[in-house]
Amino acid sequence: MSSILDSDSVASLRAKLPGRVITPSDDGYDAARAVFYQSVDRRPAVIVRPVDAGEVSHIVSLARDTGSELAIRSGGHSLAGHGVSDGGIVLDLSAMRSLEIDVNGRTAWAQTGLTAGMYTSAAGVHGLATGFGDTASVGIGGLTLGGGVGFLVRKHGLTIDNLLAAEIVTADGQLRYVDADTEPELFWAIRGGGGNFGVATRFRYRMFELDTILGGLLVLPATPGVIASFVAEAEDAPEELSAIANIMVAPPMPFLPAEAHGRLVVMALLCYSGDLEAGERALAPFRTLAEPIADMVGPMPYPDIYGLFGEDPPGPAEEVARSVFLDAIDGGVAEAIVDHLHASSAPLTVAQLRVLGGAMARVPADQTAFAHRDRRIMAALGAVYERAEETPQHEAWVTEFAAAIGKDADVYVNFVGDEGRARVRDAYPGNTWDRLTGIKRRYDPANLFRLNQNIPPSGDARR
Ligand SMILES: Cc1cc2nc3c(=O)[nH]c(=O)nc-3n(C[C@H](O)[C@H](O)[C@H](O)COP(=O)(O)OP(=O)(O)OC[C@H]3O[C@@H](n4cnc5c(N)ncnc54)[C@H](O)[C@@H]3O)c2cc1C
Repeated sequence: MSSILDSDSVASLRAKLPGRVITPSDDGYDAARAVFYQSVDRRPAVIVRPVDAGEVSHIVSLARDTGSELAIRSGGHSLAGHGVSDGGIVLDLSAMRSLEIDVNGRTAWAQTGLTAGMYTSAAGVHGLATGFGDTASVGIGGLTLGGGVGFLVRKHGLTIDNLLAAEIVTADGQLRYVDADTEPELFWAIRGGGGNFGVATRFRYRMFELDTILGGLLVLPATPGVIASFVAEAEDAPEELSAIANIMVAPPMPFLPAEAHGRLVVMALLCYSGDLEAGERALAPFRTLAEPIADMVGPMPYPDIYGLFGEDPPGPAEEVARSVFLDAIDGGVAEAIVDHLHASSAPLTVAQLRVLGGAMARVPADQTAFAHRDRRIMAALGAVYERAEETPQHEAWVTEFAAAIGKDADVYVNFVGDEGRARVRDAYPGNTWDRLTGIKRRYDPANLFRLNQNIPPSGDARR
């Protein structure tokens, strides 16, 4: 797509935001346009790094007035590569990373260029935490606006369940404060509705006292019986325990014995946030499901759950992924998981199972735009490989895999990739879609914020 930003517009943008505008002729353009997924190769007309809400408003107005496509980027981890535009403007929030913590009040105002890891480390200094996802480098922007499912989901709910307020620049360029009392409909919509309603510049979060957790990696052999029992134990466990089970062929990691390399294993990330002795009791059943291949679960400062393998690795060259909700993992589903992982020809495949429930499930389904409150298990299935030519075969594999274990189409919006417009509808069951489209018509009638998992003002998901 060619640029519709003329050179005068770019020049005036440079004058207004000196040193913060990057164009194709500038050094650093290629690094600045890169997002997490290496296969996303788009060439924006400009990348702009605002430092405050006033500059964000200026960029939003410029995109609106010129008709340019606008990409909003926090951490750049969108599964569909929505953090970069072809020919349009990238509003990159990475220069907005301030965090103001009210230690006594246990709240924080966080600018949306922060990553989950940055926030968590800074909060950890005060023995405080807010739950995000499982990966440090994910941006709090995209993660929060879609919901946020992580290590504290059963104990404290989704990230949005601890979002107290936000500041957001809407399509008219106005900076709005939103919370449960002020513009409540917009506040409802941004808790699950993604980037459809404006650019969030700051979030105000509730924080929890959380110092030491019992957490880390437990590796077990992945037989269908172990997989099914693991999930059953995780569902029965106290809410203090959140579990993420990655079922995959064991890579040659130094902490795994050589004989385990190449075997199908359950790599479980466990996080118990509560009394440590009670935590040991809660974890005991997992350790007896089979002889552990590695048991690295122990007391640790909460922020260290993000650093278990050092720095986050760079994004994959190529990946296909699908996500489904499951009601249970019975023997048949567990067997299907094992069979499909064995059947793929990709060098790396994974079935990730997250056990939900607890605090997340106690929030009424219509209280936020994330309506999947009663879903018990969330699965993410993926294959990583090197060559784009292989995509059709891996796409066919992952599609068939998801159909084999998923019973319905519902999906968590942050786990949707580039799957077409109609798929976004599946993220908003019941009345959620109609309510969101009504709010979209009010705040963004021209669909300025469309480079996302889009909720069109018309409400027509098949457009
Ligand atoms: C390796 C990996 C691990 C993940 N783990 C988890 C997990 O454990 N739990 C979970 O819930 N999700 C997880 N996700 C999904 C993740 O939440 C989404 O991909 C999310 O959109 C990424 O946010 P981001 O800010 O990094 O991405 P970006 O690509 O920067 O943003 C994604 C989209 O969010 C919107 N957006 C971002 N910031 C703003 C803003 N400030 N204002 C308005 N709109 C904005 C835009 O529409 C943008 O296109 C993971 C993704 C990856 C790649």
